[in-house]
Amino acid sequence: MALLREPLLLLSRSGTVKKLVSTLPVSAGIVRSYVPGETTETAVEATARLVGDGLTVTLDFLGEDTLDAEQADATVAAYLALLKKLSAAGLQRQAEVSVKLSAIGQALPDVGHKIALENARTICRAARNAGTTVTLDVEDHTTTDSTLGILHDLRKDFPETGAVLQAYLHRTEADCRALAHEGSRVRLCKGAYNEPESVAFQDKVEVDKSYVRCLKVLLSGQGYPMIATHDPRMVEIASSLASRYGRAQGTYEFQMLYGIRPEEQKRLAASGETVRVYLPYGGEWYGYLMRRLAERPQNLTFFLRSLVSKK
Ligand SMILES: Cc1cc2nc3c(=O)[nH]c(=O)nc-3n(C[C@H](O)[C@H](O)[C@H](O)COP(=O)(O)OP(=O)(O)OC[C@H]3O[C@@H](n4cnc5c(N)ncnc54)[C@H](O)[C@@H]3O)c2cc1C
Repeated sequence: MALLREPLLLLSRSGTVKKLVSTLPVSAGIVRSYVPGETTETAVEATARLVGDGLTVTLDFLGEDTLDAEQADATVAAYLALLKKLSAAGLQRQAEVSVKLSAIGQALPDVGHKIALENARTICRAARNAGTTVTLDVEDHTTTDSTLGILHDLRKDFPETGAVLQAYLHRTEADCRALAHEGSRVRLCKGAYNEPESVAFQDKVEVDKSYVRCLKVLLSGQGYPMIATHDPRMVEIASSLASRYGRAQGTYEFQMLYGIRPEEQKRLAASGETVRVYLPYGGEWYGYLMRRLAERPQNLTFFLRSLVSKK
C-alpha cells in the first residue's frame, strides 16, 4: 500500500485525471466523506454541527496552484463572504480559516509572492474584524521560504496569524525553534506532498521521530502548539509531553481533518482538550482528495466504486 503513495501524489497534480475525477458530484460517497459540501452555507452548517459537538473548526475554501489572478481574487472574495457568514452565525469564537497561499496568487509568475501577501493581508483584516484568525497552510517545499516570509510580514500587523510546519522536512525542527515564541500559533503536521530525499525524510519512522522532536520544541516553548495528526501514537506522546512540560489544557490544541477519526475527535474534546476540525469545502476538491487517498490507499476501492457509479 505504501507503494501507492507516490503515484497518487503525482496524480494529485495531473490535469487529465483531474478532469475525469472532477466529474464526480461532491455528493459522491468518497468525496462527501472528506468534504461536507460546495457552498458557504453547507460549510457554515457543518461548522455549527461540529461546534454543537464541543469541537472548534478551521475552514478551508478549496483551491490551489492557481495561475489566474481573477481566480485568486474570487478565492479572496469567497473567504470574505465566509467570514461574514461565520460572524453572522455567532461562530467566530470557535471557527477560524485556513488559507493556501497558492490559491490566492503565490504561483503567479514574478508577482506571486507580492500578490499572495496583499491578498492574505485582506483576509487577515476581514478575519480580525469578524473576531477570528487565519492560519497559513503550507504546500510543497519549493514554496516554504515564500510562505514563511509572508507569515513574517503578516505577523507585523496580525501577530495572531497561525503558521504550519511539516515534520517530514529536514529544516522543520529549526523552524519550530524560530517560531516557538510567545503568542505564536504553530500547527505541526507530518506533511502531505511528494518530496525528494534531499529535503525530506522518506521513511515513516524517521518522519515520526522528527514529529516528536518538533513536538518537544513546541510544547516546551512559549507559543501555542496546534498538534495536527490522526496518529494515535503521536496524540499519546503529545499528551504526555504536555504534562511533562506543565502545560494546562487549552494552552495547546489537537487538530484533525473533517471525516477522519470523528469519534476520537469527540473523545479528546470530552476529556477537556481543545480539538479543532479542519473543514474543507468548495468545488476544487480534487488535489485534497488525492492527498487523502495517498495517506490511506485502503480507500482506493471505495474511490473507484464512486467513480464508476458516479454516486
Ligand atoms: C488539521 C490538519 C491540517 C493540515 N494541514 C496541512 C498543511 O497545511 N500542509 C500539509 O502538507 N499537510 C497538512 N495536513 C496533512 C498532514 O500533513 C498529513 O498528511 C495527514 O494528517 C496524515 O498524517 P497523520 O499525522 O494523520 O499520520 P499518518 O501516519 O498518515 O496516519 C496515522 C494514522 O492515522 C489514521 N489515518 C490517517 N489518515 C487517515 C484517513 N484518511 N482515514 C482514516 N484514518 C486515517 C490511521 O489510523 C493511520 O494509521 C494537515 C493535517 C491536519 C490534521
